[in-house]
Amino acid sequence: GGIGGIEVALDLAEAGFFVYLVEKSASIGGLMARLDKTFPTNDCAMCILSPKLVECGRHLNIEVLTLAEVVNISGEAGNFTVTVRENPRYVDVASCTGCGDCANACPVNLPNDFEGGLSTRKAVFRLFPQAFPGAFQIEKRGVPNCQAACPLEQKAQGYIALIREGRFEEALRVVRMDNPFPGICGRACHHPCMEHCQRGMLDAPLRIPYLKRFLADFERSLGKALLPEVRGERSERVAVVGAGPSGLSCAYFLRLLGYQVVVFEAQSHPGGMMRFGIPPYRLPRDVVEWEIRALQELGVDIRCNTAWGRDFLLQDLFARGFSAVYLACGAWKGARLGIEGEDHPQVLDGLAYLLRCHRCEDIPRAERIAVIGGGNVAIDCARTALRQGAKEVTVYYRRSFDEMPARPEEVEEAKEEGVEFIFCAAPKRFVEVNGKLLLEMAGVRLCAPDESGRRRPEIIPGSEFTVSADLYIVATGQKVVVPEKEGLELTPWGTVKVGENLATSLPGVFAGGDLVLGPATLVEAIAHGKRAAYAIDAYLRGVPFEEQRLSPAPLAISWGERKNPGEPPRKLGVPERVTGFAEVVSGYTEQEARDEAQRCLSCGGCAECLRCVEACKRNAIRHKDKVRLRELRVGAIVYATGTGVFDPAKRLRELGYRKYPNVITSLDFERILSASGPTKGKVVRPSDGKVPRKIAFVQCVGSRDRERGGSYCSSVCCMYAIKEAL
Ligand SMILES: Cc1cc2nc3c(=O)[nH]c(=O)nc-3n(C[C@H](O)[C@H](O)[C@H](O)COP(=O)(O)OP(=O)(O)OC[C@H]3O[C@@H](n4cnc5c(N)ncnc54)[C@H](O)[C@@H]3O)c2cc1C
Ligand code: SF4
Ligand code: SF4
Repeated sequence: GGIGGIEVALDLAEAGFFVYLVEKSASIGGLMARLDKTFPTNDCAMCILSPKLVECGRHLNIEVLTLAEVVNISGEAGNFTVTVRENPRYVDVASCTGCGDCANACPVNLPNDFEGGLSTRKAVFRLFPQAFPGAFQIEKRGVPNCQAACPLEQKAQGYIALIREGRFEEALRVVRMDNPFPGICGRACHHPCMEHCQRGMLDAPLRIPYLKRFLADFERSLGKALLPEVRGERSERVAVVGAGPSGLSCAYFLRLLGYQVVVFEAQSHPGGMMRFGIPPYRLPRDVVEWEIRALQELGVDIRCNTAWGRDFLLQDLFARGFSAVYLACGAWKGARLGIEGEDHPQVLDGLAYLLRCHRCEDIPRAERIAVIGGGNVAIDCARTALRQGAKEVTVYYRRSFDEMPARPEEVEEAKEEGVEFIFCAAPKRFVEVNGKLLLEMAGVRLCAPDESGRRRPEIIPGSEFTVSADLYIVATGQKVVVPEKEGLELTPWGTVKVGENLATSLPGVFAGGDLVLGPATLVEAIAHGKRAAYAIDAYLRGVPFEEQRLSPAPLAISWGERKNPGEPPRKLGVPERVTGFAEVVSGYTEQEARDEAQRCLSCGGCAECLRCVEACKRNAIRHKDKVRLRELRVGAIVYATGTGVFDPAKRLRELGYRKYPNVITSLDFERILSASGPTKGKVVRPSDGKVPRKIAFVQCVGSRDRERGGSYCSSVCCMYAIKEAL
């Protein structure tokens, strides 16, 4: 589709042949479109090219295929079959008028390759103003690491881009497309997004959860929840069992699809572990209440004090007219150590201890507390105990610090607050001596890793020691309880067995969250809820459950990217922390959030925030477009694929192209010289926009150097350099 192909196509078309003009990029025009003047006559390149683009586009004997690549040719002269792969433009060419409303709404700025990276453009863009076809296109580079690592596939890049622009309400709407709990996840999620953020390879990862939390706090400051619209009411009713994050997430997405949803909850209040497990100094209860109330505003009906197995069975739900059921009752039975003396009233399981604290029930008074376990629940128990007035709290864990499943920042904060840690210590038995309960423990050495990948602990003979405390908290995990009479198929670990679409062995019954995974995480539970909602929708509509997956985005850290590790949010001082349940970590201010968002590398190109969809009055955006293969029957094939542009960033790194902004190629300089270019033809330095006093031309770069991929002289650059210098 360069000038060579265009000329051939026009000549053949004029002679009466039907021509397919196949072009890899989004517009025909090729390299000539980027030139300021055309060799050798120095005429305006666009003045010559533009009428030819229009002629090609209008000619009845030419079909222009853009974003298309030839992948196979078979047959013989006079009778070829050409297979062409048409890559998606994500914008419907027939509907797009080229008005640019989409680009105005798009928050993602990317380097404009057409301008040699000397300016930026949006993720939805037109290659150049005179392009043919004139329709816009969307650049999707793949799924960014942050999104790929998130079980919910939350489009972090999208809301981060909107935060950067100060468009907070829109950013929050983007979060709520995938997640009903921004304030909760912004505080308590174990944030795999942040762990995998590409920016971490350069300086420090984006602090994604704090950005999400900022949006949630911003929403509360507005006093109204910004919720998506319900997409048309449906008559079917769906029952959800358990009002934890998984059940509520399923209810939210089902409600958005228009279903009538009732959530049955055993406890007096909804929220599951968000309310009764995770302590308020990490997750304030008013945040949980706000986000659950938002779901109720959407029309989700939550009925508390109603337990599955005690107040109803599955058959009762179907008899009451529910068409499907989602089971999400979590893992609420504390695991036991299975050692002597464990039934003593001074021994509590971790969850029972937290439940009593959070329900303000009586908890045994204790000054010295021993916590057994190395997970987040153990740390939560230890830090809660301090806040309940304990003077001495020690956590005993049977492996080393490196093997601890608890999040390192939680352990760090617990240490700051005064919690002691004893590693490589295993409990053997509880014994009562003179009316005092003691715990006998043994030292442990770590051997080769077991099937969990962690090193197996082995007791060191003769290393026994005794621990004395007023209260012993066993926080070594939780188990799932399923009413036996339902006949649900279970896994060997006692969790509910499900398929890919979270369907259980019983028709119309789906399950997810901790009930399926065993004790897991908030975001996994929420992700199950979302997946189950779409699976239930597919089940009720009688269609297969399908998920579309994009490939991962490539590395987006450019050679010249400056380091800027950003600032973490502030924390309360230790004395204020341990005297109550006030939230430990403060949120970002508006400016801090925007500064942090500025650091995002926009790895995926388009962030799928769907702002363009809302902005386009012609309904032309097609985010779900897919690659299409097309077969063309032709008699002859003309290759006019031109030459590749030499890239000094790859082959001549010592020149610092793409590292130093003022090192540019002659093609980039052509764009600077062009009246339609990034500087409107004014020769300025890319670094600071000032007029350069001297310009050096480095000649024969990339030519006549076989080792660098230039085996012959291009014979054009000397002429161009002289023209450009003049
Ligand atoms: C102390 C603690 C701290 C944690 N900290 C974190 C953290 O910081 N980050 C993180 O990502 N994860 C954390 N987790 C894990 C996370 O909370 C869980 O993985 C998540 O809550 C599971 O969600 P769920 O909806 O599957 O189950 P749950 O949250 O347990 O909710 C299940 C709901 O079902 C109800 N229910 C139970 N049985 C019945 C029944 N028979 N009938 C009706 N309703 C019933 C329960 O009352 C509850 O409301 C923590 C867990 C605990 C215990
Ligand atoms: S979805 Fe968002 S990021 Fe992607 S093109 Fe549209 S507006 Fe831009
Ligand atoms: S740099 Fe931005 S888009 Fe890339 S992984 Fe990090 S948050 Fe996601």
